[in-house]
Amino acid sequence: MEVSIDKNSGYCFGVEFAIKMAEDEMEHEDKLYCLGDIVHNDMEVARLKAKGLAVIDREDLKDLHDCKVLIRAHGEPPETYQVALQNNIELIDASCPVVLKLQHRVKTAFDKMQREDGQIVIYGKKGHAEVIGLTGQTQEKAIVVMNDEDLDQIDFQKPVTLFSQTTKSTKGFYALKEKIEARIKAKKGKLDEVDFNANDSICRQVSNREPQLQVFAKEQDVIIFVSGKKSSNGKALYQVCLQENPRSYFVENETEISNEWFEKSDKVGICGATSTPMWLMEKVAKYIKEQDELIPA
Ligand code: SF4
Repeated sequence: MEVSIDKNSGYCFGVEFAIKMAEDEMEHEDKLYCLGDIVHNDMEVARLKAKGLAVIDREDLKDLHDCKVLIRAHGEPPETYQVALQNNIELIDASCPVVLKLQHRVKTAFDKMQREDGQIVIYGKKGHAEVIGLTGQTQEKAIVVMNDEDLDQIDFQKPVTLFSQTTKSTKGFYALKEKIEARIKAKKGKLDEVDFNANDSICRQVSNREPQLQVFAKEQDVIIFVSGKKSSNGKALYQVCLQENPRSYFVENETEISNEWFEKSDKVGICGATSTPMWLMEKVAKYIKEQDELIPA
């Protein structure tokens, strides 16, 4: 078998930056707290835990004092910064610059919507860490939408400013935009900039991967997609592979691989999500190469 790793797979720069910051910090600290999983990948979380990274949630944060806490790439709502200030917690802020910029845009748009009696709508997943950071900019007034039923929460008589969680699909965003436009027109009989302002805030680090991955998946006989099962980006990118290549398999690590998936002459491609570490894809590639002699000719 011929085994290759997709050169475009693996960490986006936001996650890479957060992990580097955590590792640098742990070089001279025995313990570093991290608000939530630093990446949606259990293998990487376990590796960093062994180095001293302790995952906590926002409730735990309230009970901590005089220590260091890392903010991961997804960012945090303003409340987290207030708690840190009150409890003398030093924040190691590894929020992705793209997310920070989006938080700022959401805050500015929210202030404008307050003056104009309008609404902020976020296309994203309720409860997702990045979405919590975004709704925090709007005093929790933003409306989070994911599907058609969620649209009923919007008052289409009033102005709407739309943003997207950075990791949502571009296709989904533009489909939602069209639905909102149609509902505004149906209610008001018109549609202009005052009524609706749509901001495509999807991160190109993610959306650019789709076309690149389509090409890679098509070139291979078998795709082994490596990702944590909790990663929404992983689930979406796996679907991209599956559409191009029906022999695509989703695994968390090499132990989930079955030799029945391969034939001796196969070209096997390894790829993954923006939260998949390169060391893990290399480990999976090595494992598959070792299986070669066990596959019947
Ligand atoms: S996907 Fe984009 S926005 Fe999200 S952490 Fe990575 S670089 Fe930042």
